Amino acid sequence: MATNPPKLKTVISGNERLQNLKNTFETKYGESPLFYAYAPGRVNLIGEHIDYCGYSVLPMAIEPNILAAVSVNSSGTITLANTNPQYKDFTVSCSEDIAIDRDNPKWFYYFLCGVKGIQEKFGIAPLAGMSCVVDGTIPPSSGLSSSSALVCCAGLVTMEANQKSLSKAKLIEFQPLRATDVKLPDGAVFVISNCCVEMNKAASSHFNIRVVECRIATKMLAQARGVDSSRLLKLAQVQTELKASLEEMLALVDEALHPEPYSREEICKTLGITSEQFSTDLLSANTQHETHFKLHQRAKHVYSEAARVLRFKSVCDSEPAGSIQLLGDLMNQSHSSCRDLYECSCRELDQLVDICLKSGAVGSRLTGAGWGGCAVSMVSEEKVESFLQAVRESYYLPDPRRAAMEKQSLFVSKPGGGAAIFLQE
Ligand code: ADP
Repeated sequence: MATNPPKLKTVISGNERLQNLKNTFETKYGESPLFYAYAPGRVNLIGEHIDYCGYSVLPMAIEPNILAAVSVNSSGTITLANTNPQYKDFTVSCSEDIAIDRDNPKWFYYFLCGVKGIQEKFGIAPLAGMSCVVDGTIPPSSGLSSSSALVCCAGLVTMEANQKSLSKAKLIEFQPLRATDVKLPDGAVFVISNCCVEMNKAASSHFNIRVVECRIATKMLAQARGVDSSRLLKLAQVQTELKASLEEMLALVDEALHPEPYSREEICKTLGITSEQFSTDLLSANTQHETHFKLHQRAKHVYSEAARVLRFKSVCDSEPAGSIQLLGDLMNQSHSSCRDLYECSCRELDQLVDICLKSGAVGSRLTGAGWGGCAVSMVSEEKVESFLQAVRESYYLPDPRRAAMEKQSLFVSKPGGGAAIFLQE
């Protein structure tokens, strides 16, 4: 029976990266890996900052990935190492509860989240001892989900090491999507370009402030329509509750919320809650200091972006005349909305998106959380070479730091394969 993700018998020496990883593993641990696990990065084509509001997004797996080599042993410990010396070794005991320090986003905590997720799902106690070396090619903190790929890869590693059936495991749990295939139109490719500014979501509060603003907007919109908001946390839930279309939700935002930022006092008064309730029920640990909240702009972005995702998918499904231009327009609108309403772009990303459009892209937008990281551009196939050349000359070459990073920062993103386990043939 086919397992999902697949287990592939591979000739390790036929793949330079696997062979190098095998050598590193053998030097470090004095034994050979038993298996390898692989999880790809992804680029979100459209649908930014709306997954946590309950709306669908449209990501595509890409070739850059996280790969781990693993051996299983009776040491009673999990030992983690990384081919990148920036990520230090770590060992944890299999007999103790794995503790994740949320305030300290070190690389091994992401890995341990994947381990712990599978441990809890299958009730594994104690976990099998294992030694791992991780090797990643996804630029971190750039919007290509390097940390999710690391968590996924660690989940796969843990399942395989503990002989849990892959066909039964729901790998989809790592992804917030009910997956439906979307066929992208022929004749266009997606190009990823990194603006070379990193933004680590776990180490900054930008991301959490937006999550909080959406949560407050949810309560305020429900309140405006006389709906009990106590159970509602996501903007999509208000839409469901009101049985409204996205267009109607956009009209409601204009009617019920003002564009001026809201103070804590105004929100507490409208919702009939105390300042203490506001802090404990609505704010997160790292947003306690916030005093003003742009509810109108954030809700407007979310509902309009959710509508753009649906339009994008329907253009892909029906392929009307000029579909590439239609998709490009949606990507451009998405970027403007991220920049102006959600304010999750930055100067460098805006500059890069402008350069991509001037260099011949049909559409271009920031992708991932924003505040740095990558842009994704849709480029017609015959223009790819001239596009890459123009972006190289305008964005990367004039700046020595960017020029040094160009090779990993500007690439055509062919759709990549899904997560897999490799076994030596
Ligand atoms: P992203 O959008 O790429 O997921 P995050 O800032 O959320 O960005 O996560 C980046 C973090 O993921 C890094 O700081 C590091 O802890 C971890 N990470 C990414 N790539 C690797 C890797 N190759 N090896 C170890 N850890 C990695």
